[in-house]
Amino acid sequence: MSFKINRRTFIQTLSAAAAVGAVGTPYLAFGATKKVVVVGGGTGGATAAKYLRLADSSIEVTLIEPNKDYYTCYLSNEVLGGDRDIDSIKFGYEGLKKRGIKVVHDYVTGIDAKAKKVTTKGGESFKYDRCIVAPGVQMRYDTIEGYDESMIEKIPHAWKAGPQTIALRKQLEDMKDGGTFVLVSPPNPFRCPPGPYERASQIAGYFKEHKKKSKVIILDSKPKFSKQGLFVQGWEKLYGYGTDNSIIEWRPGPDAAVTKLDAGKLTVTNEFDDVKADVLNIIPAQHAGKIAVTAGLTDDSGWCPIALDTFESTIHKNIHIIGDASIAKGMPKSGYAANSEAKVCAAAVSALLNGKEIGSPSYVNTCYSIIGKDYGISVASVHKLAKDKSKIIKVSGGLTPKDASAEAHKREVGYANSWLKNITDDIFG
Ligand SMILES: Cc1cc2nc3c(=O)[nH]c(=O)nc-3n(C[C@H](O)[C@H](O)[C@H](O)COP(=O)(O)OP(=O)(O)OC[C@H]3O[C@@H](n4cnc5c(N)ncnc54)[C@H](O)[C@@H]3O)c2cc1C
Repeated sequence: MSFKINRRTFIQTLSAAAAVGAVGTPYLAFGATKKVVVVGGGTGGATAAKYLRLADSSIEVTLIEPNKDYYTCYLSNEVLGGDRDIDSIKFGYEGLKKRGIKVVHDYVTGIDAKAKKVTTKGGESFKYDRCIVAPGVQMRYDTIEGYDESMIEKIPHAWKAGPQTIALRKQLEDMKDGGTFVLVSPPNPFRCPPGPYERASQIAGYFKEHKKKSKVIILDSKPKFSKQGLFVQGWEKLYGYGTDNSIIEWRPGPDAAVTKLDAGKLTVTNEFDDVKADVLNIIPAQHAGKIAVTAGLTDDSGWCPIALDTFESTIHKNIHIIGDASIAKGMPKSGYAANSEAKVCAAAVSALLNGKEIGSPSYVNTCYSIIGKDYGISVASVHKLAKDKSKIIKVSGGLTPKDASAEAHKREVGYANSWLKNITDDIFG
């Protein structure tokens, strides 16, 4: 049977389609393109952009990120230790462009939740049906007297990888043998809970090989830390931890919290004493990336409250926040978690834009830490949403066993390196 269409039936069909669109799938009004703007092209944002296009290639996805290259923080501690080149953690956006994502190199200065519009430093504006915000973290320089952002060249935090990682590595290379590297660990919650201790380990490994009289001191306001048992065991085996000759000294507890900095003398002060560094690495306290604060997406904690099945803000509708900036109760602030959250969010945004039901999400996290030569440890977990949707709960997982063999620790290093390759292919490929 053939179907002839004349002007009148065409108009009737059009009106019917528009009516269906208005009720069932509001964004599918005839000819309208569904638009998603992603703010931040790091681990969370780039993954979300890619997986949105995979879920529905008709969605117009615009990714706004100021930098042309992204340096992963993961494995950047190995650059500090000297085992890895900075270029091995550098990634570009060509892969995402090939997938039809519009990549705009600009800095987002405003998100207007009412007008559903994102504005940039470059003076452009982008309308959206839904916006995904993944700006990572912002450092808080105000918690230590005498410390401010202008000091980051002299005292790089290197908690965002890239030029600061290179600068800190250079300081370590230039440091005299017999010098002290002082690491100030941030208060909870912060990006990458095992990261400061992996950093201390990597630098201790460098000293063990190249500057045998040098020491690492960790000043920590926290009494305990992630994977502590495994780290301490590694430190005992590799760096003489607990003996008079230990390369690493960990000074924990509230009284160890650094309250004051004398930048000229590279000296930090806590309740006990003044600690003089030859190389100083303050990892500051953190909150959600600045744009999340400016856009009114944060609560009093400085982080963004969200619905855990869609990652939609509980403050502003049609805006989703993923990665470190979000309060993803039950998930750590890690790259693998940001990648996993981005996939859950992309699936939810695609469903919402198409008037479909949201699936029941599951989430994963794995975190490798390389403590020294041929010595890696890891933690892995699978999560689901609690029935009342109030938190993400762990349903299974595991840690490197405490009695793991040397061969098993060596394998973990191999796994860490292949994880970097796999996750970055997944994000940017
Ligand atoms: C030393 C170290 C080691 C780590 N090791 C691991 C590890 O082994 N495994 C692991 O899983 N995780 C690790 N992490 C944590 C991981 O790097 C972060 O959790 C992850 O990068 C979070 O992703 P995100 O998308 O939230 O933020 P990011 O990856 O930081 O991305 C944020 C992006 O947003 C952009 N942006 C910010 N503001 C704006 C704006 N206004 N407009 C446009 N763009 C903007 C930034 O330029 C950036 O590219 C480590 C972190 C550190 C510091």
